[in-house]
Amino acid sequence: MKNLLIATKNQGKVAEFADMMNDLEVNWLSLADKGIDFDVVEDGDTFTANAILKVKAYAAAAGIMTLADDSGLEVDALNGEPGLYTARYGGPGLSHEERYQFLLKNLVDVPEEKRTAQFRCVIVVADGNGEILTTAEGICPGRIAFTPRGANGFGYDPVFVPDGKGGRTMAELLPEEKHPISHRGRAIEALAPFLRELLA
Ligand code: IMP
Repeated sequence: MKNLLIATKNQGKVAEFADMMNDLEVNWLSLADKGIDFDVVEDGDTFTANAILKVKAYAAAAGIMTLADDSGLEVDALNGEPGLYTARYGGPGLSHEERYQFLLKNLVDVPEEKRTAQFRCVIVVADGNGEILTTAEGICPGRIAFTPRGANGFGYDPVFVPDGKGGRTMAELLPEEKHPISHRGRAIEALAPFLRELLA
């Protein structure tokens, strides 16, 4: 069985990736499994550029096929912010809850119909030499709620209401409801045929 490193320090993401691709014949490894604990400076100017920075650095360190992603939340009323700054939104050292509360504060005067937003995810796969094999992108459209609801998921899930789910927030969905429609789920769906062929 082939090894594939999921190069993220976010345990929520590791669980989502492994769960969404559990039909693949692959030995999933985390950064911790490979004893890797350095950070990569994400100073690219697109999600793709940041995912490439991460995948190259971690593939070079691990020497095996590696998958990295970059994702974020784009809010229309904020001209696409927080975007590339989603993980750092509001300043350093904040909890997930403090970050989404900061977002709600910035949208306090924005009415329901103008609260449209989308999660975006780019996934890049590289071989053990850091050569890029493929990239895939997924988008999940929705709206920003007025107040947080739900306890599932991670990050901004309590304040993001995806389209087509009856007004529930991401954090009110079960994992099996979130994964097929999430930005990461859709990026994985686009990537899956390639990965299946590669790992066959
Ligand atoms: P990344 O780890 O650089 O991709 O950071 C992405 C940012 O977007 C982090 O702050 C995450 O909390 C947030 N984010 C990414 N995916 C999700 C999701 O599925 N739900 C909620 N927040 C997410």
